[in-house]
Amino acid sequence: MRLTKQRKAISDYFAANPEHAFSVEMIYNQIGDGKMNLSTVYRNVDRLAQLGLLARTLMKNTAYYYVKKEEHQHFMICTSCFKMFPINHVIEEIIPIAIGQTDFKALAHDIVIYGICRRCQLHNEKSKVSF
Ligand SMILES: [Zn+2]
Ligand SMILES: [Zn+2]
Repeated sequence: MRLTKQRKAISDYFAANPEHAFSVEMIYNQIGDGKMNLSTVYRNVDRLAQLGLLARTLMKNTAYYYVKKEEHQHFMICTSCFKMFPINHVIEEIIPIAIGQTDFKALAHDIVIYGICRRCQLHNEKSKVSF
């Protein structure tokens, strides 16, 4: 794989923040800095996802990308700060229950829990108090 300078910068940024999901705009704001435009960031992030290095999830119709772990893993994602928290329980048990008596053949699954992390909850509480 030919890793261009730009793609390497993006890949390095994700690698330095493995517990965080980012939109293309967030990456652009962090490392674009005149060196690459938004469509260049988009193209490179998309390529890294195609290569299987990044995983993708949708929140409010926006795609967020994060480093794909080698082992199968589920996450909770904070929709306020986009930090990711691994789920350390086997939640696959729900799959045969969901399929039940249908003849559906499950090939893959994507289970994500969206919510607000403790830090963002506290932050929001404080801002409520100060108003
Ligand atoms: Zn948060
Ligand atoms: Zn699973």
